[in-house]
Amino acid sequence: MHSEVSVRDLVVNYGPVRALHGVSFDVPAGQIAALVGSNGAGKSTVLKAICGLLQPVEGEIVVGGEVMSPKPGDPLRHGVALSPEGRRLFGRLPVEENLLMGAYTVPDAASRREMMERVYGYFPRLRERRRQMAGSLSGGEQQMCAIGRALMARPKVLLLDEPSLGIAPIIVAELAKIIEEISRDMSMTVLLVEQNAQMALSLASTGIVLETGKVVLTGTGSELLESPEVRAAYLGT
Ligand code: ATP
Repeated sequence: MHSEVSVRDLVVNYGPVRALHGVSFDVPAGQIAALVGSNGAGKSTVLKAICGLLQPVEGEIVVGGEVMSPKPGDPLRHGVALSPEGRRLFGRLPVEENLLMGAYTVPDAASRREMMERVYGYFPRLRERRRQMAGSLSGGEQQMCAIGRALMARPKVLLLDEPSLGIAPIIVAELAKIIEEISRDMSMTVLLVEQNAQMALSLASTGIVLETGKVVLTGTGSELLESPEVRAAYLGT
């Protein structure tokens, strides 16, 4: 199976502080990979580097066979869209305007319309609330809006930073189901960053465990869910 995203020996510093110490992993095309680890392990840093928001000091990121980094470019040009941690919506704009903002690289209105319909298909609650200000949505609905906005760019690779953060467990389960559907229906490659290791590893064909800027374990999602180290450190069992 070929990799859609390949991260090789990635080193990232914040000023004098090294956040990633040579991180390598692959995300198989059309599948879900979960990057898990505790607070501060470097998960968001990996996503930011893949999007070109951070410049690595060493290493290489290859997306769809093209080298993205070290030369930064528009991630959307490489088919990569991010749903950021904390959602970052425009709270005083309606849901539909927020969604459309994700489609700024999609030139024709018909494609935007078609994608909007798909997004509303996955998230019927967004359709119901399409004229409501994004800031008035519940946390779970805002998360749906952020994922919808990333989908509007018609990406090949969807990066999701902590979609379960601050969301009620029942909504997390609903989101997990939808993420799985999105990947399956659209053969979308998804890199899911989560502190909720249980949720992320249950969805993922590939799991990567990051600790203090290093990969300490990789395996299939179910292998990691059963691994004693993961169970002790991240699942509280
Ligand atoms: P979280 O779940 O809190 O987002 P994370 O695994 O995503 O954690 P990162 O946010 O990638 O972790 O942070 C990795 C390391 O880099 C941490 O030690 C953090 O303190 C440090 N760090 C992150 N952002 C900055 C920054 N802007 N300046 C300095 N250090 C930073």
